[in-house]
Amino acid sequence: MDSAQGTFDVAIIGSGIGGSTLGAILARQGLRVIVFEGGTHPKFAVGESMILETSEVLRAMAKFYDVPELAYFSSENYFSHIGTSHGVKRHFSFLYHRPGEEQQVAQSLQAVIPKQPHGHELHLYRQDSDYFLTAVAISYGATVLQNTRIRDVQTSPDGVEVITDQGHQYHAQYVVDAGGFRSILAEKFGLRDTNLQAHSRAIFTHMVDVPCFNDVGAPRQEYGIPFPLSQGTLHHVFDGGWLWVIPFNNHPRSTNPLCSVGLQVDPRIHPARPDLSPEEEFYAFIGQYPSMQAQFREAKAVRGWTRTERLQYSSTHLFGERFCLLGHAAGFIDPLFSKGLYTTFMSVALVANALIEAQSAGDYSPQRFEPLDQTTLSFVRSNDRLVANAYKSFSNYKLWSVYSVVWMLGAYLEYVKLTSARVQATSRADYFARIRGLRLVGGGFAQFDQVTNVIDQLIEQTDPADEVAVDRAVAAIKALFASVDWVPHAFQEILKGKNHLPANKLRLGLLKRDTGFMGSGAYQAHFFGRRSNSELVKAFLREKMRYSTPSLAVQRRLQNAGRAQVHH
Ligand SMILES: Cc1cc2nc3c(=O)[nH]c(=O)nc-3n(C[C@H](O)[C@H](O)[C@H](O)COP(=O)(O)OP(=O)(O)OC[C@H]3O[C@@H](n4cnc5c(N)ncnc54)[C@H](O)[C@@H]3O)c2cc1C
Repeated sequence: MDSAQGTFDVAIIGSGIGGSTLGAILARQGLRVIVFEGGTHPKFAVGESMILETSEVLRAMAKFYDVPELAYFSSENYFSHIGTSHGVKRHFSFLYHRPGEEQQVAQSLQAVIPKQPHGHELHLYRQDSDYFLTAVAISYGATVLQNTRIRDVQTSPDGVEVITDQGHQYHAQYVVDAGGFRSILAEKFGLRDTNLQAHSRAIFTHMVDVPCFNDVGAPRQEYGIPFPLSQGTLHHVFDGGWLWVIPFNNHPRSTNPLCSVGLQVDPRIHPARPDLSPEEEFYAFIGQYPSMQAQFREAKAVRGWTRTERLQYSSTHLFGERFCLLGHAAGFIDPLFSKGLYTTFMSVALVANALIEAQSAGDYSPQRFEPLDQTTLSFVRSNDRLVANAYKSFSNYKLWSVYSVVWMLGAYLEYVKLTSARVQATSRADYFARIRGLRLVGGGFAQFDQVTNVIDQLIEQTDPADEVAVDRAVAAIKALFASVDWVPHAFQEILKGKNHLPANKLRLGLLKRDTGFMGSGAYQAHFFGRRSNSELVKAFLREKMRYSTPSLAVQRRLQNAGRAQVHH
């Protein structure tokens, strides 16, 4: 009999980024946790580009579940505490391409990710981040069995039996399927739902010798953008798809020469080419776009290419008797705006809360998991519409030039709401009450939802080939944004034709009454409550201090000292 066999509170299938984070939290909170991993760390995974919302949920989990390692997710802290194989993400950039033409400098966008107060975002080298989080789970007391695939799960009102490929059986009170898109519980209970708007397939790998686009195309100064294109996630966009370039070798401390590269296309516009190998198909495709092709002239793949079928799936529901689905097992749309990890970590936060309460009450009733179901599925639905309409807007640059503001504004408001909820919450329950109603974008602000619902309808009704209809839709979208007083100045500038958000400059103007960062009226009340400017400045400074590299190092030393004493 395996020494790990016995009784556990929670069994987790999969130690990807979601399962390992959940394992760490639950073990830290004193639950008996077992994690089954079919593969062996370190192992390849995609899902590399972080966004502000993702690292913000991680900071909230660090705080409310007392796992300080989860607050390391910013560039400076990651490089100092975890390793230098990850890349820095100072921006999201988009370059628009047409077949047979050079990329036009005017058709570009750089959405800068501010350095303040938490540091720039990251390109996660997943084999290392997932290994790190698995090690954190083990250090808090989780049992992790690698090379142990789960074949079946039997659920009953008294608990679950989890059965491995080797035929070993483990008993737990509850099972979380964090096994990704091949989720065995989604299959067993027939939960998959593919009735979604977005439609894309992918071809991807890791490469070396991918230069900065500014070295093969126009230089940064000609674009007039704050950062070189290699210092963030680059999206080459075109009719029917886009291509990601996610370098890990883009900062002085980097020890990783790799760059993640992936092509995403709508097969209804760009049908699959089974007559070609994935690599041949990749090069044949980019051969139509001279500027894109130039970036990959010297590039070499360092691992096999992956070519997928349609990527989109969701689930009819995410929980049942003694089980639930987490993260990528619940659903996925498209990597376009890097919302996958945010969705995954939000589901981790919600499942952890439900399980800690269930274990403490000795009551694993399914209704405890309703918040997971509502929030995660609404995230997937929102992303579906956002991605589907973004792809549609790629068919006509004029549509993308305004629809991009829907994306940026939605992400910004979500981040502001998440941050203010964490900073103001007095307890974990208070935090979850404050973020109830979030749906991935817009920070739960009703006016944002109303305006963007109309914009989405306009995009859905417009034929991108009809220039008159496109001009009408663009004018209507600009008028809608102009009709509300809460669109921050930086986004209004994009609507007027500017191609980047401001570089990270803190300025006093941000604190001006009415025109400043805090806005006014319903907007101010929703995002900032009754806080004054001076309270906000104090909160900002506290954030800077609390999440600085030296401060996290001290927290870690104190925690290690505490653990050493306990072991003694
Ligand atoms: C092409 C692509 C690109 C993406 N890019 C981004 C991005 O740039 N940014 C972003 O935020 N998100 C991105 N995502 C989404 C991101 O990958 C997911 O949100 C994230 O990986 C989900 O983590 P997870 O732990 O739920 O699942 P996974 O990372 O898929 O982990 C699942 C784990 O379960 C294990 N497992 C599976 N079945 C079993 C079993 N039966 N028994 C035991 N173990 C099992 C697997 O070995 C694996 O370790 C992307 C997704 C795709 C498909």
